[in-house]
Amino acid sequence: MSVRAEQYDAEVISREELSPHLVRVVLHVPGFVSTGVPDEWVGLVVPGQFQSRYYTVRSYDASPGPGHTRLTLDIVVHATGLVTEWAARSEIVGETVTITAPKGSFEQPPGAQWLMLVGDLTALPAMARIASETTLPTRIWAEVPDVDELADYLPGSADVTWLAGHGDQLAATVEGLAWPEGEGYFWMAGESAQMRAIRKHLMRERRLPSHAYDVMGYWRSSVGRQPRKVDPGPIYRAGKAAGLTDEQIWQNYDEAADT
Ligand SMILES: Cc1cc2nc3c(=O)[nH]c(=O)nc-3n(C[C@H](O)[C@H](O)[C@H](O)COP(=O)(O)OP(=O)(O)OC[C@H]3O[C@@H](n4cnc5c(N)ncnc54)[C@H](O)[C@@H]3O)c2cc1C
Repeated sequence: MSVRAEQYDAEVISREELSPHLVRVVLHVPGFVSTGVPDEWVGLVVPGQFQSRYYTVRSYDASPGPGHTRLTLDIVVHATGLVTEWAARSEIVGETVTITAPKGSFEQPPGAQWLMLVGDLTALPAMARIASETTLPTRIWAEVPDVDELADYLPGSADVTWLAGHGDQLAATVEGLAWPEGEGYFWMAGESAQMRAIRKHLMRERRLPSHAYDVMGYWRSSVGRQPRKVDPGPIYRAGKAAGLTDEQIWQNYDEAADT
């Protein structure tokens, strides 16, 4: 039996350019129920397409009435792409898109005393929501194309370091960080190669237990890359048999795909 992921039809009720690189789209999504996990995301399929792309639920508002949730997605407009080209059009208000049921990954340990969040422009919506929903002291490192464009995007409660760039300095930045004392939680997202470097650093240099961090590749740069097809099945089974964590298995898979 095949089980289809739950899907919702959603109507675009507004579109706003927050900056030349970031477009805010508000959807009306009858029946949407949030997971409550602050980095939750949905799959988005835009008109005329059948492939989905993932977007963070920057915020949601169920106050218009039962079953009338409004969902806010902040979409990075980059050089070319299915959703990029759709979101770049000013006429999308009134169109119907499809979104999939939300999923989340952020899971801070019960004893966490601080949060460190690191990411590029695609991670900004998740970092903003995490920081606005936590009571823990939060430091953020955000790498964006223009540091003045989005200066007010992140909540004032967080201690923010802005870096100018396209996300390719993040791994080097994290490798040079001074870490706070005590138990905390490290969350990071952005371009996949940067995330692979950081997973290695956290496991090998910092020797963090896997529950102390969450590092997610949000997009893959195709510049100079010729990805190799690798069957994840054998790597997953071998990893499980060897008692590896999911993070370690992911890393083995990434290394095999990159070799
Ligand atoms: C859990 C999760 C949450 C995410 N949340 C957000 C979010 O809130 N906002 C957001 O904007 N993105 C988010 N992303 C990233 C987004 O899904 C990808 O960037 C996606 O590939 C964009 O789709 P597209 O149709 O515009 O481009 P695609 O058709 O997927 O790609 C076209 C080309 O653009 C390149 N490309 C893709 N993304 C980027 C980029 N960001 N910068 C430069 N080049 C790129 C690709 O390498 C490819 O060559 C998230 C991803 C994940 C996994």
